Amino acid sequence: MNGWVVCRQGKGYLVKNGIQEKLETNFNKDSVGMINEDRGDSVLVWLIGSDSYWIIPKNEVEEIDVTKTGDKFDFKICNVCHCLKPTENFARNQNNLRGIVRRPSCQKCRTSIDKRAPKTKQAKQTEKQKPKKGEPFTCPICRKRSIVGITAKIIVDHDHHTGNIRGFICDSCNTGLGRFKNGENYLMNAVNYIKEHDTLG
Ligand SMILES: [Zn+2]
Ligand SMILES: [Zn+2]
Repeated sequence: MNGWVVCRQGKGYLVKNGIQEKLETNFNKDSVGMINEDRGDSVLVWLIGSDSYWIIPKNEVEEIDVTKTGDKFDFKICNVCHCLKPTENFARNQNNLRGIVRRPSCQKCRTSIDKRAPKTKQAKQTEKQKPKKGEPFTCPICRKRSIVGITAKIIVDHDHHTGNIRGFICDSCNTGLGRFKNGENYLMNAVNYIKEHDTLG
């Protein structure tokens, strides 16, 4: 036992600032969480996906062994909503020597990640300025010089919220930004984290 539970029904009483709401409300079915307090017939559960606390009837909460979830098992926990779902609900990413590798996010969460704002007028105009194949290019982030389409791939970088183009960056920096999910705060967090742990600094 490692303390994790799955909440089967997806309903309960939300607890905000220590106060239990009067009306029962819904959350995602099969949300994964941890029991915070045993209250007899009910339990206070912390749901990791939504970072919220709920009072839920004890019989709707099931203990799970999270080490027995994932691609090799019948059920997998989504890394965004943190619901326990049938492993087929996660799109196949690739096959490797050890078998099928699936996406870490469930199909439902992926649809909202992939949702992009439509191209704006600004985007259509800026796109024409994209450096042409064979032209020299300096990436505004890593400052690396390249020959477009020959020594580096150049990516049109969109702001997925507005649909506008921010600029042109190299493929490698685009992957880097993608890791931070285009969240400004994540980048700042990374900078602060590195500064905090920089022993030379
Ligand atoms: Zn999900
Ligand atoms: Zn770059």
